[in-house]
Order: sequence, then C-alpha cells, then structure tokens
Amino acid sequence: MSQYLGIDLGGSKIEYGLLTSKGFRLLGQIKTPKTAKEITKKIASLLSDFNRVKVGIGIAGLVDKSKEEILFCPNLPFKNYNLKKKLFRLIGKEIVLENDVNCFAIAQYQKMKKKPSSLIGITLGTGIGGGIVLNGKIYRGNGIAGEFGHMCISLKGPKCHCGGKGCLEALASGWALEREGRKVSGRKITAKEMAEKARQGEKKFIEIFRKMGHHLGIGLANLTNLFSPEIIVIGGSLINSKDLFWEEMLTTLKNQSFPELPILVKIFPAKKVAGAVAYGASLIAKEEF
Ligand SMILES: [Zn+2]
Repeated sequence: MSQYLGIDLGGSKIEYGLLTSKGFRLLGQIKTPKTAKEITKKIASLLSDFNRVKVGIGIAGLVDKSKEEILFCPNLPFKNYNLKKKLFRLIGKEIVLENDVNCFAIAQYQKMKKKPSSLIGITLGTGIGGGIVLNGKIYRGNGIAGEFGHMCISLKGPKCHCGGKGCLEALASGWALEREGRKVSGRKITAKEMAEKARQGEKKFIEIFRKMGHHLGIGLANLTNLFSPEIIVIGGSLINSKDLFWEEMLTTLKNQSFPELPILVKIFPAKKVAGAVAYGASLIAKEEF
C-alpha cells in the first residue's frame, strides 16, 4: 500500500498527516523551531519515523520549483535555502516542496465532485496568498505564479512587506486590518476582536471591513478580467468575518470588471478541510500536481 506524508511547515507550527487508500488523516503537530538548522533537524527526525512513504512539504514562502529551493519566507528563517538537499544529506530521503497556498488550492480542487478546468484558491489570513489550478495542475508560471496578495491595488496605498506599495495584502490582510484597527482605537487590537466590535455596531470597525471588501473586490476584478476562472474559493482565518466584507467585495467586483465576467465566475468560501495544506502537500507527493 502506498502512503504519502503531507507536512504543513508554518511560521508557528508544523502540522502533518498521512494519505493512504482510506483517505487523509491528520497525525499531529509540533511547534516550529526558531532556526533553519533546527527546523531541518526536526523534520528529519519526523521523517525517520516514516519508512517507504513519499513526502510533500507545503511551506509559507516562495518556492523555486526549478531548483527546488526556498527563496524567501516572511515568517520562517529561510532564504535561498535548499531544504530538499539538506534533508537528503541528513537522512537520504527525497521530498517534494510546494508553496502552502498551492497546497491549499489543490486540496480544495480535490474535494470538488465536479472538477473545474480552472480554479483559483485565495487565503485571507495574516497575509494574502493565491494558488492557481489549471486543468488539474498547479500553474506556477516561471516559478512563483499566484501571488495574488501582491497585486497592486493603489499606488498611493500603504507600504507592503514585499517592498511594494499599495499591494492587496497591505490593504486587506490580517496585518493590514490590525494596522487600521490600531489607528482608530489607539491600541493593539486583533482582527478577530475588530470583527466582534463591528458586529456590535461600532461604525469605525464596520468601515474597516467594508474597505477590506472593496479592495478585495478590485483585486478579484483584476483577476477575473485577466483569467476568467471557472471557480474562485476563498479561505483563511479571515473568512470567519465574511459577513462583514463579502457583499462589498462582490459589489466592487461587479462594478470594476467587464459586465459579463462576474456572472461567469463562481466565487465561494473554501470548504473546511482539516489540515488543508498538509493534505494538499500529500496529494502533491502522490500525484505531482
Ligand atoms: Zn506586497
């Protein structure tokens, strides 16, 4: 029986699960160590418990598939780091590396009864990520396609962590919301707390989420004009605040794109999949999407 181990290597935790003929099962999670060396060692020791399994690792960062190298991670200590080579040297095991949002997108694709010819997966969390699945395969372009969060929405917008200005992520992500929340409340406030206050009727927070929806709508309009995808699924922790931005997002999408396009694309919240990134990584190990 063939088995595939999927690992979600995130900034705070490493989650892993096994795909077998019976389906995918999450096995556990461990805290992400601080340095690249420690993380590599931790994964090596995790892998040594699994013999004869193929391994896929989804990572929150830019992966250059041509070199199988991690180029950059905003929340992990990797820069131009070849995790694949290092693991092979340590334990003689091959792995497949993939961007975590690509793993999320492939997991969503796999859960659909009727497979769409084109699907874009978007995650709204601390940052904003995107993954493109075309004809059942991840579309990587020349390496790192799908960076939806860094599409420019307004040149006059705030600075982004990537070095750009007015990226969607700098306007509509968790960290952008929290920056705006601090401005209006004069203290540190989480996106979750802001959502609760908005639902209680506090206008300044309602407005922050409305603007988030507006900026997302502009991003989606650019995306649909360019790609005309069959399906867009939106996940990530901020989808729990959907009631506060979804309508504004769809209205802006309608106003900003060609009139026919929003009718042709189906946009809906992502299916809840336990360990979606680890699941997607195991699928990639299995089928090399
Ligand atoms: Zn950016």
